[in-house]
Amino acid sequence: MDQLAVPDFSAGAMENWGLITYREAALFYAPDVSSEADKQRVTNIIAHELAHQWFGNMVTMSWWDDLWIKEGFATYIATLGMEKMCCKWNAYEEESLDNMLAILSTDAYCSTRPIHQPVTTANQIGGLFDPITYRKGAVIIRMMHMFIGDMAFRLGLNNYIERQAYGNAKQEDLWQALTQIAHDHSSLPKDLCLQTIMDSWTLQKGYPLIKVRRHYTNKCAVISQSRFKLQPEQQPNARQDQLFEQKRQYCWLVPISYTSELAHNFNSTEPQVWLRCTPKGEPLPLRLRYLPGEFEWIILNVQLTAPYRVDYDSCNWRLLIDALKGLDFQQIHVLNRAQLIDDAMTLAWTGQRS
Ligand SMILES: [Zn+2]
Repeated sequence: MDQLAVPDFSAGAMENWGLITYREAALFYAPDVSSEADKQRVTNIIAHELAHQWFGNMVTMSWWDDLWIKEGFATYIATLGMEKMCCKWNAYEEESLDNMLAILSTDAYCSTRPIHQPVTTANQIGGLFDPITYRKGAVIIRMMHMFIGDMAFRLGLNNYIERQAYGNAKQEDLWQALTQIAHDHSSLPKDLCLQTIMDSWTLQKGYPLIKVRRHYTNKCAVISQSRFKLQPEQQPNARQDQLFEQKRQYCWLVPISYTSELAHNFNSTEPQVWLRCTPKGEPLPLRLRYLPGEFEWIILNVQLTAPYRVDYDSCNWRLLIDALKGLDFQQIHVLNRAQLIDDAMTLAWTGQRS
């Protein structure tokens, strides 16, 4: 594989098969002068372009509306490669968190768009090279990796690449290959397929806010979802299309993993339950049972698997805040500590928490 730095190259890099070209600055690294962060940046871009040899080159999207598959995979696979190469960087956790927090911020605006975006004219193509394609693409691929497990993810991708090699593919081809393996490995309920789950994340814009209301005497909780927006729902003088958008019902198939203070299982990212939708696409609330009592916190979205925010009832928030302020705060996984702080600050910003 030849890699070439090109003066005044306009893009950061281009994954041409057999001859990857880079903007000169993207490859600059001098051991005595450059920082560790420079080394990480150069490694990241090389890993991204190498990942494209499979995702983009060996299998190319059929049309630009599936651009996110090659860019999402290149972004995500690059972090796996960096983690393998130099674990002291902690690249997998850092990059995953960076992508997740960026998306939880930008994808909460009304002006956001779905990852899978119809493209009918040439001038729509350039606009697709944005954080939704790269970062949200990587975020939902990581979510899928975590909910079907490593073995099914690897075998499913092998099947997908073998079937589609030297040709074109749509996102449906990817879901088909992964569903088959995930069902064979019992890592996905038989009544769910990847297409139904992932369509809810790729065809709808935004992401959900999950509300958790615990019933401490019954040791259960009711969880429900609605689209999270940074801006108010109703806007004065809204146009007809904006009014339609305000009334539109959003619903995602959400993998729900959770743990509690005593169970303390931050290693298992596979969902205990799925938050689902009615056949008409309306959100269905769900009851979590066998939860601990009033002196123990619970936390959803182990290791920040899926892009959603969580708003607990005041009592559970208080238990979590006390845990974060205590000496033993590291009992909560670092990614979930970041999640709690980001969710609390954002919900305060929107006036949903004080
Ligand atoms: Zn790329």
